Amino acid sequence: MAAPGPEGTPRRGFDLAALLAERGAERYELHARHLNHQLPRVLRTIGFDKVYERADGAYFWDADGQDYLDMLAGFGVMGLGRHHPVVRAALHDVIDASLADLTRFDCSPLPGLLAEKLLAHSPHLDRVFFGNSGTEAVETALKFARCATGRPRVLYCEHAFHGLTTGALSVNGEAGFRDGFAPLLPDTAVPLGDLAALERELRRGDVAALVVEPIQGKGVQEAPPGYLRAAQELLHRHGALLIADEVQTGLGRTGDFYAYQHDDGVEPDLVCVAKALSGGYVPVGATLGKDWIFKKVYSSMDRVLVHSASFGSNAQAMAAGLAVLSVIEDEGIVANARVTGDLLRTRLAELVDRYEFLAAVRGRGLMIGIEFGRPESLVLRGRWTMLQAARKGLFAQMVVVPLLRKHRILTQVSGDELEVIKLIPPLTIGEREVDRFLTAFTAVMDDAHAGGGLMWDFGKTLIKQAVLQR
Ligand code: PLP
Repeated sequence: MAAPGPEGTPRRGFDLAALLAERGAERYELHARHLNHQLPRVLRTIGFDKVYERADGAYFWDADGQDYLDMLAGFGVMGLGRHHPVVRAALHDVIDASLADLTRFDCSPLPGLLAEKLLAHSPHLDRVFFGNSGTEAVETALKFARCATGRPRVLYCEHAFHGLTTGALSVNGEAGFRDGFAPLLPDTAVPLGDLAALERELRRGDVAALVVEPIQGKGVQEAPPGYLRAAQELLHRHGALLIADEVQTGLGRTGDFYAYQHDDGVEPDLVCVAKALSGGYVPVGATLGKDWIFKKVYSSMDRVLVHSASFGSNAQAMAAGLAVLSVIEDEGIVANARVTGDLLRTRLAELVDRYEFLAAVRGRGLMIGIEFGRPESLVLRGRWTMLQAARKGLFAQMVVVPLLRKHRILTQVSGDELEVIKLIPPLTIGEREVDRFLTAFTAVMDDAHAGGGLMWDFGKTLIKQAVLQR
């Protein structure tokens, strides 16, 4: 029988709550049958096949009511944590307002207001294109740079990640992502921080732009101080543009509103934003740019729709974006990311001398990389070498697994074959979460050095699998 609707009226037709109650338990099976079948397989292998029932802020809860600390924030989209009340209220309001959204032949006020608010954080930029994801924000920047300069080639940094649609994939610095999808756009990789390599490519005269993450998501590698400013000068001297991909680093993540603002005098021609912009509720992407670039793209009335998206600027995404920017301001989110990030990084760095497996702690704000490396002492070195021989990155995976299974903290390995864990928690976390993470991490490191516990049992399973996959 149908569940009752609002105010006791009988509900007809679709009933989400009833559907979830009836079929929710089939989630892994449904996924295996109809979606990417490898995901449930991977989750089962590492014991991550949990059933989370609800979420709030930086936590989610399973069916037994146990809480999990989220240090991953949905790959960064949950910048304000889950279900921030201000964003949630804005979404209820915008749906309840029954706006005439997406008529496509009018100018609604919300995109203009969100663009105005966003542009206030990068006063050297003038205009915004709204799309639906990070990769679309990057596609837009690549298209705009090529159109504005009339040049075909795009440069990117080794190990870069800018999304997985074909254009963004062309500037991806990992073979693992590119393999099987060629041919891509004309593109060339340069090492992050290598100005001489950049200049060599620019001298060929066919480069439209360099696209760069001010801090790379993979491995949490930061551009060296002064690199972005010097790269910008070189690019401009050679008639090319600087694109800052702030999809992950933007909106306060690194303790500045944008990570490029950490260096004086950096004024990218195009800036890509997405992830946290809509509070994790609605897909959104934004490409901010200089007036002359937009004028080249939309150069005549005929070209008014030359770059557009059916769902771009939709009211829910825009309302959520406005609410997010207002929360960032009202709740001092950028300052919190800086202060809490400094605390977490400093306390983690203090452990480097205590644990031989711990090589380095780096990052800025609440984007932190914890790198593991070869220990000095003979027994530990033996274990490390055995793992490395099976597959690079296994040690970091062995840390991530007990962090979730034993300590109920969700983290991730920061890229294939990397011995680095990346922490990108909601920017709202405080001392309580820092303490919980450090207590758990210390316990996992103690186990790792003692050579026992869940960690090494799991390590043996991983080694077997790595060897079998060869
Ligand atoms: N750019 C960067 C720096 C990212 O980290 C990501 C996603 O992780 C993207 C682009 C792609 O964003 P999306 O997954 O929304 O397409």
